[in-house]
Amino acid sequence: MKSIRKLDAVVVGAGFGGMYMAYKLREMGLDFVGFEAADDVGGVWYWNRYPGARCDLMSVDYSYGFSREIEQEWTWSEQFAAQPEILAYAKFVADRLNLRPLFQFETRVVSAKWDDDRSLWIVATDKGDVFEATYCIMATGPLSVPKEPEFGPLSNFKGELYRTASWPKENVSFEGKRVGLIGTGSTGIQVVPEVAKEAKELYVFQRTPSFTMPMRNTKFDDEFTSELKRHYPQIRSVAYNSPLGGVRPQSTRPYFSIPLEQRQSLMEDAWKQGGLAFLGTFSDLLINEEANEEVAEFVRGKIRQVVKDPETAEKLIPRGYPIFARRPCLDTHYYEAFNQPNVHLIDCIGNEIERLSDNAVHTQNETVELDALIIATGFDGMTGALLNFEVTGKGGLPLADKWADGASSYLGMMMHGFPNMFLICGPNGPAVLANIISLNEQNVDWICALIDHISETGQHCFEVTQEAEDQWMDEVRSLAELTLVSKAKTWYTGANIQGKPRGLTVYTGGFKRYRDSCDEIAAKGYEPLVLN
Ligand code: NAP
Repeated sequence: MKSIRKLDAVVVGAGFGGMYMAYKLREMGLDFVGFEAADDVGGVWYWNRYPGARCDLMSVDYSYGFSREIEQEWTWSEQFAAQPEILAYAKFVADRLNLRPLFQFETRVVSAKWDDDRSLWIVATDKGDVFEATYCIMATGPLSVPKEPEFGPLSNFKGELYRTASWPKENVSFEGKRVGLIGTGSTGIQVVPEVAKEAKELYVFQRTPSFTMPMRNTKFDDEFTSELKRHYPQIRSVAYNSPLGGVRPQSTRPYFSIPLEQRQSLMEDAWKQGGLAFLGTFSDLLINEEANEEVAEFVRGKIRQVVKDPETAEKLIPRGYPIFARRPCLDTHYYEAFNQPNVHLIDCIGNEIERLSDNAVHTQNETVELDALIIATGFDGMTGALLNFEVTGKGGLPLADKWADGASSYLGMMMHGFPNMFLICGPNGPAVLANIISLNEQNVDWICALIDHISETGQHCFEVTQEAEDQWMDEVRSLAELTLVSKAKTWYTGANIQGKPRGLTVYTGGFKRYRDSCDEIAAKGYEPLVLN
């Protein structure tokens, strides 16, 4: 029988959150092990290496701010970095800080169980190893478990099958092939223009059209890069004090505060500028339904201008939900791709995909024969990874039972009934509406300060009270009611997964306000936590 190793902490996940946590725990002198299912660091950027994968946050924001050395030594090549560059950055950081020895790679945690009698976590892996740890830190990411689509087993398709969320490392060629793509969220929208360049025919199966705006990516030149490196401290300061946790122009101008002509001209500018410029042009697009609809109509007009076939354009136009309520997508020639003769839009509204067979996708009304099929149907977001293995808290309470009616947590970082467990960027924090790298750093710093505090008090355990968790959840819900974010059927609300409890599991108050709340709790001696 293998011996049980006793630790101060375990960390699950070697994405950007887990990497920074491992770095900090080592600095604190704690004895810990990190676990990662992949064979290297990078998290979501390790797995999602599909053609066109790119971050829609600017690379200067989507990077660690905790190390002045790394900021100076790493050079981003463009405004919005592509997946290979982001993964190379994660590897660079791992090398530079010698993080890999802190992780067991190709190792999945299969259970994490709180032992009431001994007040510690018992963590088992798929390698048959068991660890006992004071703290269990989940850096499992909000988007790490792909959704299993409703149209039956994917293995029914006998042609080449690819999932964007676990794309092969080897080069994939679609040259001369009939390719199907299912899903038109941020991922599918990035895949289409790339595969359209190669495939003989590309069939895009679209159920809900997304709003997407041109990214208009730019390369950085040497002069820009050296200016950027000189100003990192100021850039980080602006980012950490912003609602997004990143540098983006903010507007205090409500949409209807200026005349129509001026609004139109600002929208034209925002479209030309690209990225999420609209959100920096008007202050109330996520709260004022009428303003939101006018911007949506402007974008619909642009789709009509770009897409030459009016029937295809009408099918691509999103309706029935506010723009920016689903995650706004940024694209590089997505709508233009539908002007190519080899790209075909299959509208799945009223024409659902029913099943896959050996060489085809069967919708209610048609059969599309294919050589290759790409699945980009999204993720079991926010909670999927944490419910993917056995996690039990006090009295053996399964996390699945605690979350049976919806994910509840305190600050998105801890849960009543789960003492000494931390979530990094967990549900009900601002993850996914804020720059997740800034949020990872903030969460990790806050958690490490709390671990220090616990040890200074001579205690070993913390647990957040039910009352504090309930109050936080009330704040999350009441803030959500002020925005349009929950008014679309999305993974933000669990609506993309059959049987998943519905409700927005994201804090919509913005990064700065969230950070202030966390700081205030620390400054007041962590009153909502019981230490023993
Ligand atoms: P997603 O936004 O959830 O989109 C999934 C797509 O699959 C939707 O169009 C959905 O249609 C479709 N779909 C699901 N089941 C289907 C079915 N049975 N039949 C037909 N269509 C089906 O997932 P995602 O595109 O992977 O993006 C998820 C998140 O990842 C994004 O919101 C973003 O946060 C992140 N991401 C970011 C970037 C970036 O930084 N640029 C890139 C990619 C992803 P319905 O809506 O009708 O269900």
